[in-house]
Amino acid sequence: MKPAPFRWHGPTSVAQAVALLAEHGSAAKVLAGGQSLVPVMAMRLVSPAHLVDINGIAGLDGITHDGRGTRIGALARHTRVLADADLARNQPLVAQGLSHVAHATIRNRGTTLGSIVHADPAGEMTAVLALTGGTVTAVSATGTREIAAADFFLGPLESALRPDELAVQATFPDLPTGAGTAFVEVSRRSGDYALCGVGAVVQADPDRPDGPPRVRCAYLSVADIPVVLDLTGAWASGEADVVAQVHATLDPPADLHASSAYRRQLAGVLTVRVIRQARASMAAVAA
Ligand SMILES: Cc1cc2nc3c(=O)[nH]c(=O)nc-3n(C[C@H](O)[C@H](O)[C@H](O)COP(=O)(O)OP(=O)(O)OC[C@H]3O[C@@H](n4cnc5c(N)ncnc54)[C@H](O)[C@@H]3O)c2cc1C
Repeated sequence: MKPAPFRWHGPTSVAQAVALLAEHGSAAKVLAGGQSLVPVMAMRLVSPAHLVDINGIAGLDGITHDGRGTRIGALARHTRVLADADLARNQPLVAQGLSHVAHATIRNRGTTLGSIVHADPAGEMTAVLALTGGTVTAVSATGTREIAAADFFLGPLESALRPDELAVQATFPDLPTGAGTAFVEVSRRSGDYALCGVGAVVQADPDRPDGPPRVRCAYLSVADIPVVLDLTGAWASGEADVVAQVHATLDPPADLHASSAYRRQLAGVLTVRVIRQARASMAAVAA
């Protein structure tokens, strides 16, 4: 199918883009990489009357570091983010998650921030933003605001971003020294959306550096929004307790591809696997 007719706008500044969004409100959609928006428009699941194409705005493709975190601009494509050496060093979870996103052609065009704004519960970057405690910076004609990951995801394909707001960057805070990370998932074919995916951060407890580590995991494809679990206590008791806590907490949806029980089982297995990997990378950093 072809999209319903729409009017294309090509702003060359953030100010022009937010003025267009203020003027057209929910009749407008921002076009970034188009890798999610264009297919849903072609299927006529959405039919915006106005497309605000931000690809002509200079300066939105930056990936910057300031000692506290990494900021990824709205036009930074997945491929560039994946290849960023500073990001891989400071927040490896982003690259670990991105390596599971789609295929090279889609990663060449799709943007990491677009993926977050799209708020697909099967999106890896939603889980990574939630797990790292990141933020999204939104600009509108009336000002700028920072939205914490915990407040950003409202439901499937629904975020806290208002129709008059442009997301200009996502910020991923740096990890504490010595922290370990990993990201694992199972999908039916390479590049497909995951049946279940799990990211993990394992770090020393700042209050008890020689005690058991803090262990947190984030899950995709198990709920309407990314789910973050603190598994510190369960991990200290043993892997069986970790699996028990995951099974008791998650109630994944069923769909054509997997039953709820299968997804829950998968989440338990992947959690143990991802924590072991993150723990091993932590030891490697600390050694
Ligand atoms: C075959 C296929 C497989 C895929 N597999 C995966 C996968 O495994 N994992 C995964 O995470 N993703 C996957 N994707 C999606 C891909 O990662 C997209 O690139 C991403 O979800 C959206 O980024 P985009 O830049 O293309 O956004 P667009 O498609 O341009 O926009 C997506 C939505 O976000 C809004 N938006 C985008 N940027 C902004 C902004 N700066 N401010 C305000 N609103 C904005 C748009 O209005 C639209 O509603 C897949 C896509 C395809 C086609």
